[in-house]
Amino acid sequence: MDCIFCQIVAGKIPADILYQDEEVIAFRDINPLAPVHLLVIPRKHIPSPVQLSEAESSLMGKMVNTANQLAKKEDIAESGYRLVINCGQQGGQGVPHLHMHLLGGRQLSATLG
Ligand code: 5GP
Ligand code: ZN
Repeated sequence: MDCIFCQIVAGKIPADILYQDEEVIAFRDINPLAPVHLLVIPRKHIPSPVQLSEAESSLMGKMVNTANQLAKKEDIAESGYRLVINCGQQGGQGVPHLHMHLLGGRQLSATLG
């Protein structure tokens, strides 16, 4: 198990965890690109959205809901925020465990990529 996010799920490496339940876990990004930069991940090791089965598709809704709740808690729901999922090499995915970025707390660029 050399996946860094699986190790965070297992409590083997520390993270600033803000929320967890039986399906998802959310923690602060170690290298924040905005005043609020959180990651929401499934506990289960799913490498990327490509590997998400139809049976697991509700997990994505759960991740969005979790991010929305955290945006309220972090007080950026009104000002606005961005949810991002990088997928694969050209999509800029560095960690091969499905994760959603929640970015906010500053004006984000209007362009993507
Ligand atoms: P990606 O580029 O794969 O979409 O994003 C991976 C994110 O995970 C990056 O923003 C990176 O800073 C973050 N990250 C990588 N390793 C760790 C870690 O060990 N702990 C935490 N909290 N974040 C990490
Ligand atoms: Zn993993």
